[in-house]
Amino acid sequence: MDYKIKKILFVFLFIGTAVFAQNNTQYWQQKVDYKMTIDMNVETYQYEGKQELKYTNNSPDTLYRVFYHLYFNAFQPGSEMDVRSQTISDADDRVSSRIGNLKPNETGYINVNKLSQDGTSISYEVVGTILEVDLDKPILPGASTTFNMDFNAQVPVQIRRSGRNNAEGVALSMTQWYPKLAEYDFEGWHADPYIAREFHGVWGDFDVTINIDSDYTIGGTGYLQNANEIGHGYQDENVKPAKPVNGKYSWRFLAPNVHDFTWAADPEYIHDKITGPNGVILHFLYKNNPEIAENWKNLQEKTAEIMVYYNKHIGDYPYKQYSVVQGGDGGMEYAMCTLITGNRNFNSLVGVTAHEMAHTWFQFLLATNESKHEWMDEGFTTYISGWAMNHVMKQNKVNPTNGSYRGYYYLAKSGKEQPQTTHSDRYGSNMAYGISAYSKGAVFMAQLGYIIGRDNLHKTLLRYFDEFAFKHPTPNDFIRVAEKVSGAELSWYLTDWTQTTNTIDYGIKSVSSEGNKTTVTLERIGLMPMPLDINVTYADGSEATFYVPLQMMRKDKPNPDASKTWTVLKDWAWAYPTYSFEILNGKTVKSITIDASKLMADVNPDNNSYTN
Ligand SMILES: [Zn+2]
Repeated sequence: MDYKIKKILFVFLFIGTAVFAQNNTQYWQQKVDYKMTIDMNVETYQYEGKQELKYTNNSPDTLYRVFYHLYFNAFQPGSEMDVRSQTISDADDRVSSRIGNLKPNETGYINVNKLSQDGTSISYEVVGTILEVDLDKPILPGASTTFNMDFNAQVPVQIRRSGRNNAEGVALSMTQWYPKLAEYDFEGWHADPYIAREFHGVWGDFDVTINIDSDYTIGGTGYLQNANEIGHGYQDENVKPAKPVNGKYSWRFLAPNVHDFTWAADPEYIHDKITGPNGVILHFLYKNNPEIAENWKNLQEKTAEIMVYYNKHIGDYPYKQYSVVQGGDGGMEYAMCTLITGNRNFNSLVGVTAHEMAHTWFQFLLATNESKHEWMDEGFTTYISGWAMNHVMKQNKVNPTNGSYRGYYYLAKSGKEQPQTTHSDRYGSNMAYGISAYSKGAVFMAQLGYIIGRDNLHKTLLRYFDEFAFKHPTPNDFIRVAEKVSGAELSWYLTDWTQTTNTIDYGIKSVSSEGNKTTVTLERIGLMPMPLDINVTYADGSEATFYVPLQMMRKDKPNPDASKTWTVLKDWAWAYPTYSFEILNGKTVKSITIDASKLMADVNPDNNSYTN
């Protein structure tokens, strides 16, 4: 317990201290502290809200304007989300033309009725899903200001992520539901309109009170402050909850140091809780449906095991609560919780939980800007959750990232690939976005394990989390950690893999034997450089690996398999299209394979092997 508290304090105190990252500028980040109260009408799906936001400008810049996200405004006919969905070639069928068909009492909106800065009314304009605010007085570097806002809102029919009455009958999936200040960081404002996906937020403390009919159970972000008053499975044993006032309870949640606040509510939720690793309380809220009850019970221990896996392989989860809540439209990560659909077979239920929980580390604790670097969020999450599933479901896969490699090969040959530096909303198709972010992003990680060795990859992930939790790291921050851990130069890998669509294609050009000597000539056909593991099997059944270092890496990787002999050959400098080496041990070569592990994503495997 003490250790836990120290760790949390350490993580929190680290914010605001000077570290150098992000293009060698001194690191800083803004801070938000929200106090919100909303009154929910579960009949009309409308709510009234008051928000007090203390905003601290830790940047070196004077701010004259600020921007808020009003995400619910996306669920209106003619919105950017609607139009994009109706014009993209492969629309997500959860969205397709459904927004265009919403009636006025089914749309989503957030109306801002009043906004003041330090007590003075200020002018603002709603532009789609963004509120543009001209400040009464500029916010100086290091200064804080307080905004007070009155708003009223309507929960849309469930279309995407949030909404009322989802496909499984969950009444309220309240994600992206409040006016949320946009992030301002070393790259400036990120007032991205809500078109399809991905979020970037400002950390701070949330104090949220939700007034709702007393029969609704709420699950989500934050620690319930009045659990014994409310009950609903949050109270201490043998405590009788208070009587509701006018048929409602006031749920008050505190969430320290998060960059989002999400909740879901339903009058039929079953609410279970267990104690997970390091005393973290795991909450499970799911519909009272006998068909899924057993899966949701069995999920609970698996969720604890998954958290143990991430604690060990990335870093300790710093909050004291995590909730898996049935809601939404698939699976989506939020602060201290996830909303997932629940009518699934057991494997799928554990799989979606493993994926969304992994996002806690990459999207909520590290919190890369996923609009710009979606592959660092979805890809890293896909990679680590594949390994977590392999572990907790005892799948015994040699390479749990295999499916992601298949996806990447499909994309690379489709003619529709765009560089991973593409903004997540600006991919030409949902297919190109999805495979690039999830699959190519996961391959980035697995393949890095091939390049620097798996031990170094593990150390990289741990050190990355340790150095960059709560700092919005960039791609360069990650690769620099990998460089420091491995001693290798890796900027070529970041550049070619994430900023271009260059592909890897190496081949065996020729093999000739003369006396005791076998000469192997390799060729580089693709533009992307790679170091090569050349696996050789001899006629006597023995095996050996010849390692061809990539010169621009300036470092050899350690032998990945101690059971085979490992011969480090001379460097291959990238510009040379061919490379030859000799096998001089006199053994008869039976077969030669470039990278038998298949961790190197060679788009043309046909020329990778030779058989005598
Ligand atoms: Zn994801």
